[in-house]
Amino acid sequence: MHEPLSRWRHLWPHRDNATAMESAAHDILSDYYRWHASLQTTSPGPASTDSSLLQRAIALLSDLSARLQRDSTPWPDPAYLAHMNGDVPIAASLAFFAALLYNPNNVTAETSLVTTELEHELSDDLCSLFDFDTRQGWAHLCSGGHAGNYEAMWMARNLKQIPFALAEAPACQTAMQQVATLELHNMAPAKVVQLLCSLEPAIRDSVMHEARTLPTTASSRERGAVYVAAHRHPAWDKCADLLGLQLVPVVVDSTRRMDTARLREQLLRAIGDGSPIVAVVATTGSSGEGSVDDIDAILALRQECQTRFGASFFIHADAAYGGYYRCLLRSQSGGPECDSNGNELAPEVAKALRALTHVDTITVDPHKSGYAPYPAGALVVRDRRYADAIAWRSRYFSETRGERRGFGAYTLEGARPGAAVAAVWTLHRLLGLHRQGLGALLADGVYLARRFHLALNEAATFPIEGVLHRFVSLAMPDLAMLNFAVLPVDENATDATNAARISELSERVIALAPGPEALPDTPWFSRNRVPVMHVLGQPVDSRTTTVIRCCFLKPYARDQADAFVLRLIDRLQQQLATRRDKITPPSS
Ligand SMILES: *Cc1c(COP(=O)(O)O)cnc(C)c1O
Repeated sequence: MHEPLSRWRHLWPHRDNATAMESAAHDILSDYYRWHASLQTTSPGPASTDSSLLQRAIALLSDLSARLQRDSTPWPDPAYLAHMNGDVPIAASLAFFAALLYNPNNVTAETSLVTTELEHELSDDLCSLFDFDTRQGWAHLCSGGHAGNYEAMWMARNLKQIPFALAEAPACQTAMQQVATLELHNMAPAKVVQLLCSLEPAIRDSVMHEARTLPTTASSRERGAVYVAAHRHPAWDKCADLLGLQLVPVVVDSTRRMDTARLREQLLRAIGDGSPIVAVVATTGSSGEGSVDDIDAILALRQECQTRFGASFFIHADAAYGGYYRCLLRSQSGGPECDSNGNELAPEVAKALRALTHVDTITVDPHKSGYAPYPAGALVVRDRRYADAIAWRSRYFSETRGERRGFGAYTLEGARPGAAVAAVWTLHRLLGLHRQGLGALLADGVYLARRFHLALNEAATFPIEGVLHRFVSLAMPDLAMLNFAVLPVDENATDATNAARISELSERVIALAPGPEALPDTPWFSRNRVPVMHVLGQPVDSRTTTVIRCCFLKPYARDQADAFVLRLIDRLQQQLATRRDKITPPSS
């Protein structure tokens, strides 16, 4: 349908780079065989004449490869727009494969000398991406956004308990006498770590022990609440369940962002009631619609609570999808942000991405907008001392090597793949975390999503079963994701059947691409569930409906953007007008 932008072409498999990459893969494997042989110095015994095991292994690999080719999700297809995952740049796949052969486990440097070194460099890369001080901040890879979010909330929860433990520790009572009860419930995270670090190691250990035993005896209300936009990722419900925290959803406004006026009311009420606020989560790229919460407003709220009531809270950004879009705001020199407002980004989105530098922790997934192979999530921490609140030391690993402390004692997960670290490290170096590198690639997706939004809303009406219909794109995309729906032109907004009808049409569109009758270039989409009033643009009731969700993570040529989106629309109209099959919507 269209050729990727020539500048990026060599990142992905292409006939022009096949020979070079096949030869690189061959070299990686020969190096590995050489390394392996160099370690097998004891005599192997008589040569084996039975090669049946080898033949079986080759046959299995060949079957596997055939099966993968036949039934894999078609990421390389330009019309594949369904999910936030896709085609991995070939150098990253090879970096993963190369490291995988040596099977490094980044739980400790003892089992991953090389890839632990690389992870320290990645930690600096990710801290710099968000303008965290690399001497104070810290980052590591994890399996994904779930693990990153869990770990951040584990830190926030334990930090919340420390002031109570301090108040009860005999050695700290004089110091804690000046602390008002209100502050005890909602002490600023920075102050908590400061207090903790001022203690002698033995007292600190006993306070930490006390802080960790508190949560098991308290009710989830006493342990406190996490505030997050109502359209949160399901990872948040699992997280609250696991950590025994209360989850407080905050309504989403017509821009699909958290309604911070409502958040303010909820926080002030909690402070008034003396309920601990464990954290406020700023979604930076919601998984359903790619919307970016107003982080400045959340920071201002924390400031207001601190000034008026001496009450503070932890701020975490769930930037699993959106974190790398900060590359659009960074200059090539890697220094502080350049003046660019990101051009493709709406001013309020650029402002929110800039404000990330003031939050406490950030989840960002290299396996989403970082183009890395799975599993690659990351947690980025402004102050590495926060991780002391979740540290558990191992009896069998050394903890530090050289100047830098190890990872294993401070991470939620144990064994972590060094191969994933190698792939992300390679991508960061290959692309560059700035406006001319990964930023340019991501900016093309934002540009395309915004062109698609405009084209959908301007598209001509078209008939389905004799009734005129139109496309409605719900909102100008914040990032490279958008939601749209198909509506009858004369729809009656108060009609209760609308929600079901919209859902049915969405399912019909989603079913087109994988269908046996699909024409070439038919786009692949996924679904999202939103309030009907977000589709109809006016208050109806609280009913929700299924809309069509699409993500632009591919390398697109901007000069072909309009032709590309018009062709997508044309394909959809053509097939919706001709296909007769009825799709039953899933029950809501
Ligand atoms: C994808 C996503 C997650 C979960 O991340 P995984 O990598 O699937 O574990 C959490 N939050 C947001 C906003 C996401 O987009």
